[in-house]
Amino acid sequence: MPIKTRIYRIKPNRTMKQVLDSLCDYRRFSWNLGLETWQDMYEARQLALTPHLKAELKKAKNKQNLTDIEKEILASNPVPSWRKIRDELTENKQHWQAKYPAHVFNLAIQDLGNAWQNFFDKAQPDWGKPKFKSKKAIRQGFKMDQAKIKDGYLFLEKPRAVKEKWTGFKLSSSPLSEEFGTISFYKEKNRYYVAIPFKLPELPNKAKTNQVTGVDVNVGHFNYQGGQCLVLPKKLEHAYEKIKHYQRLLARKREVNGRKEAATSRKYLKTRAKLQGAYRRATNIQNDLLQKFTTKLTDNYDSIVIEDLDVKKMLMNHVASKGMHRSMFGKFRQILSYKCEWYGKELILANKLYPSTQRCAVCGLVKKGDDKITLKGNKKHGTKHNEFVCYNPDCPNYNQKVDRDENAMMNLTLLVKHPELNKAL
Ligand SMILES: [Zn+2]
Repeated sequence: MPIKTRIYRIKPNRTMKQVLDSLCDYRRFSWNLGLETWQDMYEARQLALTPHLKAELKKAKNKQNLTDIEKEILASNPVPSWRKIRDELTENKQHWQAKYPAHVFNLAIQDLGNAWQNFFDKAQPDWGKPKFKSKKAIRQGFKMDQAKIKDGYLFLEKPRAVKEKWTGFKLSSSPLSEEFGTISFYKEKNRYYVAIPFKLPELPNKAKTNQVTGVDVNVGHFNYQGGQCLVLPKKLEHAYEKIKHYQRLLARKREVNGRKEAATSRKYLKTRAKLQGAYRRATNIQNDLLQKFTTKLTDNYDSIVIEDLDVKKMLMNHVASKGMHRSMFGKFRQILSYKCEWYGKELILANKLYPSTQRCAVCGLVKKGDDKITLKGNKKHGTKHNEFVCYNPDCPNYNQKVDRDENAMMNLTLLVKHPELNKAL
């Protein structure tokens, strides 16, 4: 089922502000308590494991070689998981927690589990270890899955402690659907927002065009059959430079004043807010670009071939905010794959070993050894980084310079009609 998330700014009255603020606090409390428990549980297990036990666990899944005592040790010192943490913490809930909706607590612990999972999977290069949340963080929020929408108003579940009149939040535009998933609330600079992921009915397929394309992904541009989509326009570069600038300022402040001192100063917090603003701007520009491009692709092509994205260790020397820009490629794949699914188009992933850069799209010869093209071109033949020259005398393109990315894109396109080539060649 397609999901479309819409963000609304809401204007709560004083009572509701108090409620929202306290739920933010409760979410943070739940997360931090969960994280602390997680670390304790992990440490307890590490301490409990004897060298023999460790060796056995490494060897195999079957625990037949373990003594009863060892089995007992394992059972009483489990590997932490969000379910185990939730169960343990729910059992030991304190009296005052009854005032708060249980699902706010549960969702916090579940998200903590996801954060650990992402950290281990390294889904993105900049995934870090889950951290304790600070009351001073610019963005505070919580999630809820028990809210209701009625007549254009959003109603939260009423916490038991609240005696005042319970009001809803007017949504500035009508909901996209009656069904929606877990709602996120957040507060930034005293403004309140809510993100609602609407579940949309199945969309009708887009018309068939009988056209196919590959998309060759590069730092500054994506090549496809229709030409190029520029993905590093001036305004995005500018936003990246801002990010780098504020990051530097903050780092310098931390260095001069010490991490703890710096984090409490007003100027520091102000700069950090600016950094966040720059991140937001960059994200918006990226999303806008990618949304438009992926719409164009699914409008115009029935099959689209892309590379499995970490194929290319891209050179990003000249990009100010590399991590931020790198995230764009993952996003591209994500958006394109859901749009293809929504609209009944085919998305083909090229095998990681498929030599889209080394193969001549005209004659099929694959460059080997020191004929290979690197990110800097080819030393032996003196070709530049953006050139492809075929050295097969029988090729119509023999000894001619063609655009490297264009050639790669043609090789990707080829996979629609020749899936048997989708492997190392
Ligand atoms: Zn050739």
